[in-house]
Amino acid sequence: APANIRAIAPYQGGKPISELAREMGLNEANIVKLASNENPLGMSPKAQMALEEAIYEIARYPDGNSFALRDAVSNKYAVKPEQIVFGNGSNDILELAARAFLTTGDEVIYSQHAFAVYPLVTQAAGATGVVVPALAFGHDLAGFLKAITPKTKLIFVANPNNPTGTLIAKAELKDFLKKVPGHIVVVLDEAYDEYLSVEDKSEAITWLSEFDHLIISRTFSKAYGLAGLRVGFGLMHAALADLMNRVRQPFNVNSLAQVAATVSLHDEDFVSRSYAANKAGMTQVTQGLTKLGLSFIPSFGNFVSFKVTNASAMNQALLKQGVIVRPVANYEMPDYLRVSIGLFSENARFLEVLEQILKS
Ligand code: PMP
Repeated sequence: APANIRAIAPYQGGKPISELAREMGLNEANIVKLASNENPLGMSPKAQMALEEAIYEIARYPDGNSFALRDAVSNKYAVKPEQIVFGNGSNDILELAARAFLTTGDEVIYSQHAFAVYPLVTQAAGATGVVVPALAFGHDLAGFLKAITPKTKLIFVANPNNPTGTLIAKAELKDFLKKVPGHIVVVLDEAYDEYLSVEDKSEAITWLSEFDHLIISRTFSKAYGLAGLRVGFGLMHAALADLMNRVRQPFNVNSLAQVAATVSLHDEDFVSRSYAANKAGMTQVTQGLTKLGLSFIPSFGNFVSFKVTNASAMNQALLKQGVIVRPVANYEMPDYLRVSIGLFSENARFLEVLEQILKS
């Protein structure tokens, strides 16, 4: 394999619960998994019903153009059908952007502590990642502008970012987009947008008419609760969508994912419930952390990164008690652990076990 491929640090995903239970000698039922920013409410009950029907169509290929889902997204976000690209999860959108717009020797800008898939797709494309040091764990967009060189072809911005949970103010983001030269594509990753309050919610989709170098990436994995099905989408100028679609696999979004996503998009009640549960759970978890004397990075997502004296030992101690969180040392945050917001009872169990460990 070429050197750029061998240099890639593999993505560190979590182990399946069954495997962890076996390793730790625990009962699977007693394990609380708060490691992957999944929706603790599951998926929309309407989507589940639709999936039970859709299973009978599995012998057929999926619709390679996601017609029904495209129609639903186009209506919901007031964009033209040809401005949408569908992906096998939004990770696929990030990768398609890298494949469509990068070649060997190009430079890609992203922030320190930013989502792990950006360096991965950058290196896989033979390009070079330019990491801009974070400012108070957030994106330093002025630093991004200074990092632009003639080789810069792509910029990744995560808003909110994972694992820090930081959010960029709308005016600052818009000003940044105006200053980035039009030949550089900006991927604005909004995987957690559904967890933002009405005031904070992104307006970037309404900016698409102004910026033809902008790609907005969204997912059904978080608030829609469809992580296992793998479906996300990108919104952009039709000319960019055309290029992205050229490198897209013809059937990259499976038929079950298309059905569930289409129905989920219409189930606004489920998304509101997910938002409300996350807001209450975030208060529960952050108040609990404060009570335990632990500091955390205020988060706009469905997770929060908190600081402990020995993160690796704490992670092991939590695991031993069946509580799975995410170490973020690979994000240059060796003193932090990231916990996803779960159900009330799961959050309570996490806090209880944490307190027990801190006291022992
Ligand atoms: N972007 C960010 C910032 C994320 O945290 C994630 C999920 N970990 C993704 C994109 C990708 O999610 P998916 O591929 O499931 O849509």
